[in-house]
Amino acid sequence: MDPIERLARLFERFPGIGPRQAQRFVQFLLRSTPSARREFVDAIQSLGGAVHQCPECMRFHAWPAEASAKGAGDKKLCGICTNPERDKTHLAVVANDADLLALERSGTFRGQYFVLGGTISLASEKTNGLRIKQLLESVPARVGKGMSEIILAFPVNPEGDATAIRIREDIVAHSPDIKVTALGRGLSTGSELEYADPETIKSALDSRR
Ligand SMILES: [Zn+2]
Repeated sequence: MDPIERLARLFERFPGIGPRQAQRFVQFLLRSTPSARREFVDAIQSLGGAVHQCPECMRFHAWPAEASAKGAGDKKLCGICTNPERDKTHLAVVANDADLLALERSGTFRGQYFVLGGTISLASEKTNGLRIKQLLESVPARVGKGMSEIILAFPVNPEGDATAIRIREDIVAHSPDIKVTALGRGLSTGSELEYADPETIKSALDSRR
């Protein structure tokens, strides 16, 4: 296959990228210097060896770039989970890594995270692949470390709502003493946490209930 066509097809695999945008990416790379192109190649290659999933929050993080984080040890815990400055009393449960990063960018949440791995599909009501069991199992240990509130920070859409209802029920059944809240007003319906601005996220956090 023509190398230009081949690369365009690869870009089309990215979420939300159509053929025209894919072509624009290729054109951009064609105009770039060899060293700029090399940077992309190196960055993609380094995803293979240096990125690990944190066993505590389940997010993907660079390793060993964050290995200097105190107490990371052999478990390959991420920089957030090992940061002694972070608040252990609050746990935010998010659908995916992008939503976690959105909360981080807002700079208003200083607690711990758990990445569920998606939301419940309304069509099938399946929870396959969601780490509900791992979350529930981690609750007693987290309570032991001082956790007193779980904040459900799912997207404001039917799937996010269904996931919040399910997780809330499961947590209440397992650990009735834990306070469970969800992000409040501020996020408009259908808005993705990922694209919300820091102020919106802050007000959603402040008005959680
Ligand atoms: Zn972590």
